[in-house]
Amino acid sequence: MLHVYLRRSPSPTPGMTTSTSTSGIRTNPNVQPMPSSYSASNLSVGTTSGVGQLSPQRPTRLNVPDSTYCLSCLPSGLNFSAAMAAKQQLPPPQPKSEGDRDYIGFATLPEQVHRKSVKRGFDFTLMVVGESGLGKSTLVNSLFLSDLYKDRRIPDALERIEKTTTIEKKTMDIEERGVKLRLTIVDTPGFGDAINCEESWRACCSYIDEQFRQYFTDESGLNRKNIQDNRVHCCLYFVPPYGHGLRQIDLEFMRRMHRKVNIVPVIAKADTLTSTEIKRLKEHIMADIEDHKIQIYQFPDCDSDEDEEFKQQDRELKACVPFAVVGSNTVIEVAGKKVRGRQYPWGVVEVENPKHSDFIKLRTMLISTHMQDLKDVTQDVHYENFRAQCISQISQQAIRERSKLKRDSGPQFDPSITDTDRLLLQKDEEMSDLEDFDHVFDNSGWG
Ligand code: GDP
Repeated sequence: MLHVYLRRSPSPTPGMTTSTSTSGIRTNPNVQPMPSSYSASNLSVGTTSGVGQLSPQRPTRLNVPDSTYCLSCLPSGLNFSAAMAAKQQLPPPQPKSEGDRDYIGFATLPEQVHRKSVKRGFDFTLMVVGESGLGKSTLVNSLFLSDLYKDRRIPDALERIEKTTTIEKKTMDIEERGVKLRLTIVDTPGFGDAINCEESWRACCSYIDEQFRQYFTDESGLNRKNIQDNRVHCCLYFVPPYGHGLRQIDLEFMRRMHRKVNIVPVIAKADTLTSTEIKRLKEHIMADIEDHKIQIYQFPDCDSDEDEEFKQQDRELKACVPFAVVGSNTVIEVAGKKVRGRQYPWGVVEVENPKHSDFIKLRTMLISTHMQDLKDVTQDVHYENFRAQCISQISQQAIRERSKLKRDSGPQFDPSITDTDRLLLQKDEEMSDLEDFDHVFDNSGWG
């Protein structure tokens, strides 16, 4: 079985469309035609921007290299194998003959799930965190071949002194081979920019909690079927290339957030480092993460019955963390091929060249292979933690109100404690034990 990350069309196809379509679709002037060796699949992008709210969408049509996206594997994107199986799009098994009595038909269940999921569409929210100028917007543009941050301006030093972290949310509706994805990018301008960055993590933390709270409220409401999932599924944390590992601000952010969101650390502007420097910086970062008991996103283990080639790919992906990435908004011609890259006097750093950076590995992981797992971990681990805390708080409140009622009602009220009360109290104690444990954990190894 062959597992291929990149799928390129053998026959050259026309590059990215830059003209305005009849439906008033806006073109992207900053993104130049993509390499002709890619097969083009249409991608409609409508962007909305604004702080914490969505505004009417403006669709854009881009032709995107086939290698870039694999949204069509989303319905079963739980792991590599599931993603690959979905890509193969096997037809539903048919009875061998009319006399084949063993065939009942439930083998088409995956197909049914697939069809239903595709119809419903998918959503994914990615948060990007790191100080200004580290290349966050350029990387997002490169990842999703979009131009989400056209009017981007890096604040000067004076502006940064007092800067606080704000939250900026942008949404794109992307469609690839009939699979719709509503992608939300949550940017955090101002993070780490001020002289005193002690509280930089707080805005991100409140935003993530607020989305959990909203989901919890919606889930407990009447219209549970149409809940919009705005929870943050992944947080790309940008580590500057000029350090020697994680700084206090990086550790503080990760320590505060690792139980709320899937953190994927990336080394920004990796083209400014030699391969030896990248290797050393990766080792230092991973050592810091381990020393401080930070739990970044863990890739799921691949099944033991997978073939060796697949296991090798999985190992390579895991060994790549933190991904050393390069982003660019410009397209350069190299040996007759148009590529996204950065031009230097001595040559071109190609964004999508695996020898130059881990960009392709990051994009494959984020979009083609692990998007569903990131969502599952958000739901099953991070949101469950939040939900348990909420329920504990609600039950504490209920107990307090009940005892107040007992006190106020005087001796005629039956003072005996009910089974429900006892159960609530027991659960409450368990929760506070867990919180105590968290507290001990938080204080350990943290100066
Ligand atoms: P943001 O403030 O973190 O969103 O940073 P921007 O994406 O606006 O990038 C800031 C500057 O860094 C721009 O001049 C980019 O061209 C440049 N830049 C972005 N990505 C890279 C990269 O991978 N390598 C290098 N050398 N420069 C980059």
